[in-house]
Amino acid sequence: MKALVYHGPGKMAWEEKPKPIIKEPTDAVVKILKTTICGTDLHIMKGDVPAVTDGRIIGHEGIGVIEEVGDAVTSFKKGDRVIISCITSCGKCEYCKKAMYSHCLDGGWILGNLIDGTQAEYVRIPHADNSMYPIPTGADEEAMVMLSDILPTGFECGVLNGKVKPGDTIAIVGAGPIGMAVLLTSQFYSPAAIIMIDQDDNRLAVAKSFGATHTINSMNENAVEKVMELTENKGVDTAIEAVGVAPTFELCESLVCAGGHIANIGVHGKSVTLHLETLWSKNVTITTRLVDASTTPMLFKTVQAKKIDAKKLITHRFKLDQIVEAYATFGNAAKEKALKVLLTA
Ligand SMILES: [Zn+2]
Ligand SMILES: [Zn+2]
Repeated sequence: MKALVYHGPGKMAWEEKPKPIIKEPTDAVVKILKTTICGTDLHIMKGDVPAVTDGRIIGHEGIGVIEEVGDAVTSFKKGDRVIISCITSCGKCEYCKKAMYSHCLDGGWILGNLIDGTQAEYVRIPHADNSMYPIPTGADEEAMVMLSDILPTGFECGVLNGKVKPGDTIAIVGAGPIGMAVLLTSQFYSPAAIIMIDQDDNRLAVAKSFGATHTINSMNENAVEKVMELTENKGVDTAIEAVGVAPTFELCESLVCAGGHIANIGVHGKSVTLHLETLWSKNVTITTRLVDASTTPMLFKTVQAKKIDAKKLITHRFKLDQIVEAYATFGNAAKEKALKVLLTA
């Protein structure tokens, strides 16, 4: 089969690899129908995720059709169409019992990281019963791809951890796919104001069309001053960091109101400064989380019921074998006006 293989920083190739086989009775082998590229994959390509070694097939999102299941798989059979979760979980370990699947002792985020991933014609999914979701006939399969990672990540790490409530004022720092997923799913809770902060006017315009009530281009405006102006100098109830660099996290520290929440989503490669000299007395809560994908079944229902239009996050479409070109487009997101790029086999 063909797959996108990582060969060290800056090096990738769409090349021949052996088709995966069932290794454990709890495995499934899935033929990929649609997949996408995550911001995390770009970090991998830059060499920021040292756990990913030369020869690894990357990718942790996608949908497919089951080619083969191991003897112990009871929920799926050959021919079933499935959403592949970015999180693999055994369902039995101490962390899985707490629904903290991201820290599963025999899983977590391993796809396209510690084991071969979904940017390929076929993928092996361990603990198949717990790590995939069935796609009913007639479902919009493009929208289903957004359920592998970005919708649960935005919702769990941003909205749930940020304790967004009706009437709140929230700020989302970073209008990439994850920030947009926060924007869409925060609206379940009817916040009064959603302030999107980014440095790209196109993304801010898209955010407006997705329901942001205010946008701030932090290249041209002082985001702290603007937010204080909008909030009678109080700050926001929840500041959600969706980039993964020090300045955006520190901006969240400046934006949060007394008693508010800072919810980090971004993947940080470097340390940030925690301004306890201003925060110590502010009763704030700071949260971090790796997505557990425990809300995927709920989010699936909201997508199916068209409560959120997940498909509008897709800006570019490619054939699976054009994936190297798709990386170039996604890697140049501002110029290409890209959010999610969809690859179809
Ligand atoms: Zn991802
Ligand atoms: Zn587990």
